Order: sequence, then structure tokens, then C-alpha cells
Amino acid sequence: MTATSPLRLQLLMSDTGGGHRAAAQAIAAEVGLLDPSADVRVVDIIAEMAPFWRAVVGLYGPIVRTVPWLWGGMFAAFATGGRAPLWHAVNTVALATVRHRTLRYLDRTLPDAVLSTHPLISQACHAARLAWERERGRRIPFGIVITDPVTFHPSWIEPGADITFVATPEARDRAVACGAPADTVRLSGQPIHPRFLRDPPSRHQARAALSIPADAHAVLLTGGGEGVGALPALARAFLDLPGAPAVLAVAGRNPSGEAALRALGDAGGRLKVWGFCEQMPTLMAASDVVATKAGPGTVFEAWALGVPVVLVDALPGQEAGNVELVRSSGAGRVALGSAEAAALAVQGLLSDAAARRAAGDAARALTRPEAARDMARWLLDQARASRGE
Ligand code: UDP
Repeated sequence: MTATSPLRLQLLMSDTGGGHRAAAQAIAAEVGLLDPSADVRVVDIIAEMAPFWRAVVGLYGPIVRTVPWLWGGMFAAFATGGRAPLWHAVNTVALATVRHRTLRYLDRTLPDAVLSTHPLISQACHAARLAWERERGRRIPFGIVITDPVTFHPSWIEPGADITFVATPEARDRAVACGAPADTVRLSGQPIHPRFLRDPPSRHQARAALSIPADAHAVLLTGGGEGVGALPALARAFLDLPGAPAVLAVAGRNPSGEAALRALGDAGGRLKVWGFCEQMPTLMAASDVVATKAGPGTVFEAWALGVPVVLVDALPGQEAGNVELVRSSGAGRVALGSAEAAALAVQGLLSDAAARRAAGDAARALTRPEAARDMARWLLDQARASRGE
């Protein structure tokens, strides 16, 4: 490879939920802005693995949609790190097979630097790059972007990673407590796509695009990439609110949730329904409130636009800390109990412009707009250094 060929940068992730891909795409977009000549790829690394692992990972969506308590149990069972025999056994077997495929993948694609935005692959990637270095004599810089901002799972941590990016001071402390060397942990913030930060649609543009009257209230309802939560019941409760708000309902990759939402009709033009959609910046910019599962991607995207959130659902484990973050920040409300409680919380914000403004200001203050750019710079710098440029 010549010194002038484009830098090869990889963002490894997997589509469990939508947040890992969203973070990877945010960093890739910033790389593109900093160095348009770079060859930057977002790669679903689990697609490279044996069919067994692909099937296991494919269970994530159905589990969190239908039996979230089971997910909570698994999260807790594997959260004790290397001390738990079960964790140790599964990890040893998984690491051996996944490492082998990752090594073959590195051989085929020859990246100059790699960032992972998914917990399942931190350790395998590091092990594969060590083997690659031994066999090929070149070191691939490797870092981790932890996309869960507070109570992330310990399996994210690989002490040998060159850098671990975290979103909050709590996550920085947790990363060190889980074994990451303190000088490799960088508090950068949650990576958000430049579409939400650098030139987002105005409220006026977004409403015109969606045919929502300027003086109506609008609520975005979403359950993350997998469409988690009682979306139809929530949509009905929001449509029944006194101010007759518009409800923008996004079902993500949840076809039965989407069908149930569509079965509600269009409520006189007030209900609009999407499956997995690419228009989140427009939908959020048009909304007064974002009612969502406690997914960090969605929460921080809404906050970047200054839109308060109402948490209507939360996965046990990695999202528990996000609930506390919203509660303590003033940038939203928490109403996890029922559709009625969620509707009350939404109405509280819709009917009180001053409260909405205060929450929106708190939301903006929590956003670190440079996060994805910081990660992109790290990738580019490391790639250049590894090429000796
Ligand atoms: N998202 C999207 N289209 C959809 C649903 C979700 O682009 O139809 C994006 C959303 O904007 C966010 C991510 O998917 O960036 C969801 O991430 P989050 O952390 O909120 O939840 P997860 O799906 O990872 O549990």
C-alpha cells in the first residue's frame, strides 16, 4: 500500500437496537467532514461470524420486545465480569471462535485503525489484533466507544484497548472500576450524527415537510431501533390529550407494532406512522416532546436539538442509569408505569411552555457536540501514525 492511498478506517458494530450503528455512522460522518479522502466503513462485524453467533445476536430484538425481564436477568448474570464461572466459560468459548473470524476479517480488509461501538466484540477485536500483530508485524490501533452513557455492561471493557471513549463522568469511573487503565479512558460525550448538530432542519422546515400546522403540538413516540414498548397504547393515550397533538409514531424494526399503530387509523391526520425510518432529525425537530424508551442515542439526539424527552420505557441493565440521568438533569420526565402516566407527563410539558423551555435548555447543556468529531480525529490520527505518515 502506498503512503498516498486513502486511509482505511473501520467502525465495527452490530444491529442490536439502533444505537450502535447510529454512533458508528455519526463518527464516520465526522471522519468524512474532516478528511473526505478517507475510506471509512461502518461494518456489522457479527455478520462475519459463524451462523450460530449471528442467530444468538439476532435474538436480542425479540427478547427485549417481548421478555425484557429475561434480558435484565442475562445482563445481571453476566455483569460480574471474570469472577463469575458462567461468564468465564461462555466468554472463553465465544472469544476463541469470534477471534478467529475477526482475524480473517482483518486480513481481508487491512484497516489502518479501528473503533468498536459494540460491547460483544471488544475483547475479540483486541485478541485478533494482537494475533495479527504477532503474525504480520504491524499494529492496528483499536479503540472502544461505549454507547451506554451510565450503567454500561462490564463486557464493554478491554483493558488492552488503546482508548475507551465514555459519555459521562459516571461512565468514566465505571470504566476504570471495570479494569480500563485510567489514562486510556476519555470523557468525550455521546457521539451524535452531524445531521442533528451542524445543520439540523428548523422546526418550521420540519413541520412543513410533515404537514404539521405551526400552532399544533406534536409528540414523537419511539421505542429505539427495535420498537420496544407498548407503542399503540401510548399513541392512543397521546391522541386523546386535551390539546389534540399530532403524534409521530416510529415502530423501528417491529413489524407487529407498526401494524398495530397503523390499525389506529390516521386520527384525522394527527397520527403518522413509520417503521424503521431515516428521518429522525426531521421528526425530532418538528416535535415539542420526544416520548421514548431510555435509549441513549434517541435521548441525546433529542437533547442536541433542545427537545425534552419523556421516558416511557427502559430496558433493565444498560438503560437503568439513563433513567436517573433524565430524572436528575431536568431535561425531561420519567413516566414508566403506564400509558396514562406517560400521557400525563407529556401533557405536563405540552401545556407549560416555560417548563418546556427550561427542559430544552437543560438538554442543550448536557450535549457535547464535539464528541463524534473527537472520536473521528482519534481514528484519523491513529491511522496516519500507524502508516508512519
Ligand atoms: N432510529 C432510526 N430510525 C428508527 C428508529 C431509531 O434512525 O426508525 C435511530 C435513533 O435515531 C437512534 C437509534 O436508532 O439513533 C436508537 O438508539 P437508542 O440508543 O435510542 O436505542 P436502541 O435502539 O439502541 O436500543
